[in-house]
Amino acid sequence: MTHRIAVVTGAAGGLGTAMCKALVNQGRKVVGTHLPGTEFTAEAEQWQTDLREQGIDVAIYPLDVTDFAGCQAFVNTVEQDLGPIDILVNNAGITNDAPLKKMQPEQWNQVINVNLNSMFNMCRQVFEGMCERGFGRIVNVSSLNGEKGQFGQSNYAATKAGIYGFTKSIALEGARKGVTANSVSPGYIDTPMVRKVPEKVLTSIVDGIPVGRLGQPEDIARAVAYLTADDAGFVTGTNMSVNGGQYM
Ligand code: NAD
Repeated sequence: MTHRIAVVTGAAGGLGTAMCKALVNQGRKVVGTHLPGTEFTAEAEQWQTDLREQGIDVAIYPLDVTDFAGCQAFVNTVEQDLGPIDILVNNAGITNDAPLKKMQPEQWNQVINVNLNSMFNMCRQVFEGMCERGFGRIVNVSSLNGEKGQFGQSNYAATKAGIYGFTKSIALEGARKGVTANSVSPGYIDTPMVRKVPEKVLTSIVDGIPVGRLGQPEDIARAVAYLTADDAGFVTGTNMSVNGGQYM
C-alpha cells in the first residue's frame, strides 16, 4: 500500500479509533481529529500509546466539523504539515433523540449540522485536490437507522439517509477522476454511543440481530479499510451495510 495520508474525523474513541488503527495497519499516514474541549476516551488514549510504542506516529488535530472555515484551515494545515489528503473518512457524528412531537428545533439543527453539514464542510475542502491528483477515497459513515428509520431519531435518520444521496452524487462527480465515494452503515456496535442505550432496550436490540451480538468497532474498520484501498477503484457510489443481518 502506498503511504497515503488518511483523515478520520471524530477519532477520539468509538469507531473512529478502530478505523485509524486499521488504516495505520494498511500503511497509511493517519490523521485523527478530535472535537476541541472533549476528552479522549480510554480506548483512544490506549490506541495512541500502543501505536507510539510500536514507533507508529499518529497525528491528532483538533477539529469541529460543523465549522466550514475551521475545516478549510484544518485541511490547509494538514496539507502543509504532511502533504495532500488522499483518503477522507467522515466519521464524526452525534445523536440527540426525541420523538417528533417533542423534538426541539435546536435538537434537529444540531444533528443536521454535525452529521450532514459536516460531509459538505469536509468533502468540499479535499475533493478538488483529489480529482486534480487523480486519486481519492471518501467514506461517509451513515447508519442502519438511516436505512430503516428509527423511533425517536427523525433528525438522526434524516442525516444518515441524506448521506446516501450526497455520496452517490459526489461519486458521479469523481468517477472519471480516480476518486471514489462510498458510505458504510453500521448496525449496533459496541461503542460509547450504544452503551448509552438503557440495558433493557439493548437486550431487545441484540435479540433482533440475526448473528446474535453487537458488532465490534473492528467490523466497521475492516469495511473502511476495504473501501479506501488503492485497488478498490471500481467500488463507488455504494453503501456497505455492516449490521449482523439486522436489516437486509
Ligand atoms: P462516538 O460518540 O464514540 O464518536 C463520535 C465522535 O465524533 C467523537 O469522537 C466526537 O468527539 C466526535 N464529534 C462529535 N461532534 C463533533 C464535531 N462537531 N466535530 C468534530 N467531531 C465531533 O460515536 P461512534 O459510535 O464511534 O460513532 C461514529 C460514527 O458511527 C457516527 O457517525 C455514528 O453516527 C455512526 N454509527 C455508530 C453506530 C454505533 O453503533 N456506535 C451505529 C451506526 C452508526
